Amino acid sequence: MGVTWLAVAAAVVAAALRWPRALGGMLCTAAVLVPFLYILVCTLYPAWGDAKCPRCGKEALRRPRRGNPVGVVCDSCGFEDPELYRAYLDEMR
Ligand SMILES: [Zn+2]
Repeated sequence: MGVTWLAVAAAVVAAALRWPRALGGMLCTAAVLVPFLYILVCTLYPAWGDAKCPRCGKEALRRPRRGNPVGVVCDSCGFEDPELYRAYLDEMR
């Protein structure tokens, strides 16, 4: 098993060395940047949720029943809408 992976790694290195310099550099940059961007997007994603209340305008909306994706309640003014859908309210808290 270990020998197989060594052979695969050697083949990858050999292929990388044979590619033109620009293409190899581009692939290396992409290999470094893609996981970094993925982590960055995952970190920032919950912040995109919209908790703004349609009545009072404060960021105080929450879900009345945790885990149920439909329905919101405002902690600030008491606004309630069982039909309104807002993404990521659970994930923001
Ligand atoms: Zn409100």
